[in-house]
Amino acid sequence: MNRDHDIGREPTDEDYKWATQDMNKDKDIVEAFGGCWHESTFQTMNRKTPGGKRWQDKAFICDKCGKRHAVNPDFTTDAGKVQLLKEMRKRVDWHLFVHEIGKCNSGHFYSDYVEIDYITDTAGKFRDATWKWLCGGKT
Ligand SMILES: [Zn+2]
Repeated sequence: MNRDHDIGREPTDEDYKWATQDMNKDKDIVEAFGGCWHESTFQTMNRKTPGGKRWQDKAFICDKCGKRHAVNPDFTTDAGKVQLLKEMRKRVDWHLFVHEIGKCNSGHFYSDYVEIDYITDTAGKFRDATWKWLCGGKT
């Protein structure tokens, strides 16, 4: 599956179901890391400068954390995969995770090898493995 290309037909209910489930996986992962899954709405906020001058801030602002123009990550993109890899590597259970998803049976339990497929895949293989690890694969 390559989501970068037009699927050449009208999307079906099944496509929408998968797209929604995929986005929920990204959301689950962000929340497992303690982050905010931004839900932004266009708002006009009355603000004050440190000097007390009033001004109006018009922007898409997250209703939950208050960040401006916050974009939720897509962990299936190249940038998203690297971001996720970096986050996972900070965890104390990183080696257990790598051992779980690794195919390297060298006996070196503490090796930092990730199978190339996880990085080159564009359908969310690494994201899905991470989601299963962090969120127990719940749907
Ligand atoms: Zn937010």
